[in-house]
Amino acid sequence: MQVPLIDLKAQYLSIKTELDSAVQEVLRNGHFILGPETVKVEEEMAKFFGVKHAIGVNSGTDALFLAVKALGLGKDDEVIVPAFSFFATAETVTLAGARVVFADIRPDTFNLDPKQLEAKITGNTKAIIPVHLYGQPADMDEILSLARSKNLRVIEDCAQSIGAEYRNVKTGGIGDIGCLSFFPTKNLGCAGDGGMLLTNNDTLAEQMKLLHAHGSASKYIHSLIGLNSRLDELQAAIIRVKLKYIQAWNEKRRKNAKFYNNNLKNAAIPVTPEHVKHVYNQYTVRIPDGKRSKFQAYLKEKGVASAVHYPIPMHKQKAYTDLGYNISMPESEKAAQEVCSLPNYPEMSEEMLNYVVETINSYK
Ligand SMILES: *Cc1c(COP(=O)(O)O)cnc(C)c1O
Repeated sequence: MQVPLIDLKAQYLSIKTELDSAVQEVLRNGHFILGPETVKVEEEMAKFFGVKHAIGVNSGTDALFLAVKALGLGKDDEVIVPAFSFFATAETVTLAGARVVFADIRPDTFNLDPKQLEAKITGNTKAIIPVHLYGQPADMDEILSLARSKNLRVIEDCAQSIGAEYRNVKTGGIGDIGCLSFFPTKNLGCAGDGGMLLTNNDTLAEQMKLLHAHGSASKYIHSLIGLNSRLDELQAAIIRVKLKYIQAWNEKRRKNAKFYNNNLKNAAIPVTPEHVKHVYNQYTVRIPDGKRSKFQAYLKEKGVASAVHYPIPMHKQKAYTDLGYNISMPESEKAAQEVCSLPNYPEMSEEMLNYVVETINSYK
């Protein structure tokens, strides 16, 4: 049996009629940028997340970049990010001209460790970017209380956590700004690149709206230097259809994860605190002691896909070592050696789940 990591064709087929007609409607309409679908998806997303403002942008990466820009951060301003994430979390801070300060993660949840975070705060720290890695909310109580006591801004990287909850509040509406990605393999993916900014702050919303469209509020009048980063109408229409299913899809991912948690041997299963609702954008286990590559080769031979998110922590990437970063983040480095993501997506059959478990449990 072949079990892929994710099956976007199966997802398409499950809602084909609705998606086809949504796409056709945009094509018939002929309005492709900043049209009615964008207006509606922003309204619907704001409602879904319980926030005042949602602004569609070109990608999750752009969302992060625009968030840092909207906060006015630049030279000498420090932004603390976990060392273990997808590269865009740090890259966008550097690109915006601010200074990235890496902090290590908690070994159990793979998320930013509040104690390590606190140790990195200096007089120049201006913001923190917690990442809800794999779809599991970071320790927002601790992070927010540190941020409040030091007057720091919090940008949530929710690229993997659409629909995840921390104490019954959806990630993205907890800090000052939430950044979403609709990259195709995310739990709410479009058919190309797409992203979104969330905030309850009117001033920040206004700033981000300007920045995502050439610093312009009305045609050919530019009050700021911005960029071209809009969610296009086709993507907005697709996201609107999928938004109706995201809660059910997340529920299925959680159900799959529970099945793995209850049945997997030979792998260290994910740890999830009581007060969080994980969406398992990735179901990621640890395979310690340098045994991961052999384990993955075995899975591959049996037709079970797996992936490493991520093999090199950000502070060890050449892009940062070239910038003079020469630091050690032991937990991030260890996680990079050990993590292994297994197939988990809503369309997975019971037969597939059983097959993955049997395959892993018979590994020697
Ligand atoms: C995917 C991802 C991003 C970037 O999103 P894009 O839409 O691909 O630009 C940022 N941060 C994390 C944690 C991600 O997983």
